[in-house]
Formats: sequence, C-alpha cells, structure tokens
Amino acid sequence: MSGLALQNVVKEFGSFTAVKGVDLEVPNGTFVCLLGPSGCGKTTLLRMIAGLDLPTRGAIRLGGEDITAVPTHKRNLGMVFQSLALFPHLTVGENIAYPLRIRGIDKAAQARRVEELLAMIHLKGYADRPVSKLSGGQRQRVAIARALAISPKLFLLDEPLSALDAKLREAMQVELRQLQQSLGITTIVVTHDQREAMTMADTVVVMQAGEIRQAASPIEIYRRPADSFVADFIGQTNLIEAEATGGVASVLGVAVPGLTLPAGGKALLSVRPEDVHLTAPGGSAVPATVTFVRDLGGTIETFLDAGGRQVVAVSTPRERPEVSVGQAVGIQLTAEDCVVLKS
Ligand code: ATP
Repeated sequence: MSGLALQNVVKEFGSFTAVKGVDLEVPNGTFVCLLGPSGCGKTTLLRMIAGLDLPTRGAIRLGGEDITAVPTHKRNLGMVFQSLALFPHLTVGENIAYPLRIRGIDKAAQARRVEELLAMIHLKGYADRPVSKLSGGQRQRVAIARALAISPKLFLLDEPLSALDAKLREAMQVELRQLQQSLGITTIVVTHDQREAMTMADTVVVMQAGEIRQAASPIEIYRRPADSFVADFIGQTNLIEAEATGGVASVLGVAVPGLTLPAGGKALLSVRPEDVHLTAPGGSAVPATVTFVRDLGGTIETFLDAGGRQVVAVSTPRERPEVSVGQAVGIQLTAEDCVVLKS
C-alpha cells in the first residue's frame, strides 16, 4: 500500500542540520508516533510533511506522488498543533464547519458534517456552545473534529495533548487511537512522551539528534531496542556490561548460558527491571547487594549494586523478594532476558 514515504530528507538551518537524511515509510491507515527528546528534529520533520517547511534535500511522496514542493493547502491534510488555534469568538459548530465554509461547501452539507463529527467526538448537542465555555479535553476534541472535517488523506498532530493534565491526557490517548482506527486515517503524531507513543502507535519512530534510531512496533522497541539510546529512552532499563570469555558471554565473571556477543569481546546488555530475577548468591547468579527497596504499592523496586553498577529489579507484591538493605543476593540472568545492544 502506498502511503507516505520520506526519502533521505534533510533540513539545514544555516550551518546546523536539524534533520539528517531521514528515510521512512508510513503505510496507509497506520498510526506513527515521532518520539524523542527536545530538539531531536520531530517538529521539523512534521513541518516538512505538512509543507510548512521545505526540505533542504530529499523527497516526500504521498500516494506515490511527489509532494515535496506542493503547498500545504493543496496536500489535503488535517492538522492539530499544541496551541489548538480554535477561534474563540465562534461556536463549536462554527469552528468545526470553518474548513468546509472556506471551501464553499453548501450550508446543509456543512450542518450534516458537523453533526457527524460531533457524534464522533462525543459532543452531540454542543454545536451552539461558544468554545470559550469548554473544558480542555472538549476543546481538544473540537480541534480534532475541525481537522478531520474535510476527510483529509493525512492527519498530523504536534504534541496535541501536552496541555492536558495527566489523567485526561491518558483518556484522550485512548480516544484518539480509537478514532484513528475507526476512520482508518494515516496519522502522524509528534510527542516526547513514550507512554503516549506506546499507547497509540502502530509504529514508534525514535529520533535523536536529527536521526531515526529505530522505527518499529511499540513492543518491538521495548523488547528489542536497537541501541542503548532507545533502550534507555523507552521505559526503564538496566545497562549492564558483558564480555565474552571462552566463547560464552559473562557478567562480572559469571557466565550467561546461551548468550552470544558480537566479535570484539565486549558489549552492553539491556535488561528490563521486570526481567531481573533475584536468587540466593553464588552458583550461576551474578553477585549483588541490596541498596534500597521502594514499595510503590502496585510494584516493588529493589535497587542493587552489582560490581559498582546500579541494577533495578521490579516485582509485583505477590512475588515480592524477601530481601533487606545490605543483603547479599544473586541476579539470575538468562539469554532471553538480555538484549545485546549495538554500541
Ligand atoms: P521539541 O520537543 O522541543 O519541540 P523537536 O524534536 O520538535 O523538539 P525541532 O523543533 O524539530 O525539535 O528542532 C530541532 C532543532 O532544530 C533544534 O535544535 C532547533 O533549535 C532547530 N531549529 C528548529 N527550527 C529552526 C529554525 N527555524 N531556525 C533555526 N533552527 C531551528
């Protein structure tokens, strides 16, 4: 399926390169989150997809057509930005109808579409309310409805939920994903919140310093991070040094059966806290000492010192390890729990 394709897209601002040769395929009907720390180039990339900025080099295709130099208003896009830019003096219905009105759609068709969209965003009966009288979440929905009014080919959102409080934000993430799935619209969202990306996306694109570090499904990114940046940025992880001794990988001199390392002998492992299993010290376990225990109710975090490196283990109250601060314990590492990272 031909959706959106970015080919070696570069954006330079003077001598600074904000986006460094990005290649990305977004199949039709999928939801992509551009995720990364502040300044990594997410917004710049989205602005080029939107036609608000011109790439310095490279091409952008939509449905097979080269749209690199096509102006925004001819791209058939729906856009929602952090500042929702609703018209405060207009009603909910007038806001949603605005893009239809400027395209000269007749009044009856406008009214039908507004009703359809209000039902879709769970705001039936709100058409005549001034937007100034809406809550943050309601305004958000109106901005989404206005962007979708023209049934765009591509839906672009830049940090659309960042002004909302944490609870509402989580609810809106689920709503946005459900809406996208029911419409089957190709959607690209910029966010710096990894939980948000994991909730909504088919594909999470992790960016750093203008480059894509990994583009994959949320679970693939979590379970098989490509490198230490991705491993550390997505969820919590332990980065543990390993070396190959006699063909077998070992951590602090203890062999990890079945784990192979790339040639060169040394590598960094990513081990998620829920995969750190505590046992009695000795034998095939990596030696460690308990330094702190944090009981958060739903989960228990055990902080450990393993050869001077901090390792965190997370367990549920049911599998609570019976350990106390200062106690010597063992970490049982298996090959399945370890991801060997590219350096
Ligand atoms: P944030 O999450 O903070 O919005 P971001 O990942 O979206 O960050 P961008 O806004 O894409 O980052 O910016 C990427 C880099 O490009 C930053 O270092 C920024 O300062 C720079 N940049 C962006 N726009 C311009 C511009 N018009 N002129 C010069 N530099 C720019």
